[in-house]
Amino acid sequence: MSLKSIPPSLKTHENNNKAQIESVHLISLSKEGKIKEAREFLKQMEEAGNSVSPRSYRCLLEACGKFKSLLDGRLIHEVIQRTVKVPFGLAENPALSMLYILVFNLYASFRKWKEAAGVRKMMTQRSLRKEVSCSWITVKGKVHQFISLPGRKEQPLVHSERFAIAFGLISTPSNAPVVLFKNLRACKDRHDFGKQVSLITGREIIVRDSFSFHHFKLGDCSCNDYW
Ligand SMILES: [Zn+2]
Repeated sequence: MSLKSIPPSLKTHENNNKAQIESVHLISLSKEGKIKEAREFLKQMEEAGNSVSPRSYRCLLEACGKFKSLLDGRLIHEVIQRTVKVPFGLAENPALSMLYILVFNLYASFRKWKEAAGVRKMMTQRSLRKEVSCSWITVKGKVHQFISLPGRKEQPLVHSERFAIAFGLISTPSNAPVVLFKNLRACKDRHDFGKQVSLITGREIIVRDSFSFHHFKLGDCSCNDYW
């Protein structure tokens, strides 16, 4: 699909909705695993000087992780480097931080430590740090908090909610759902973990994070793996 072939039904939108339509198209291609097509569309957007939302990049990067395409991930990272301006001294910008954490995680998942380290270095230089992950669960009226710090060197992060889920499983009745909260958005690894635990244990796990709500039951999640 090219920029000119956006469905006629969508052409009725005003120009100021164009970017949004393009984003939706990118997200839907990513979701369907059509990464090559998405990259081609991205290229056209870049050539046309149209901006791409962090959310669209996020979905593209997540698709690269999901469909295990390091090459596509690298190419998308290059586009991000060319098109996304990250000002120095930017301590807090969740959308941008998330983008670079995804790029970092993608390289780390392929054990490309040098590239992962490069991303981490850039994040540190720009004050886009990985945030401390914090999960908490209430059992018998008492709040239990679990914190994980960013890993040393290139080690993947230790996930605080894994401890919180494990604690919830052993501390609550076997027929009760495990309900926990966390401060950061769930990454794919953590999300897969929730699904697997719900399947293996037969317990329902409910996670409320800073972006969305996940209800894991028998190996599936209420978000349908899209959040
Ligand atoms: Zn989910």
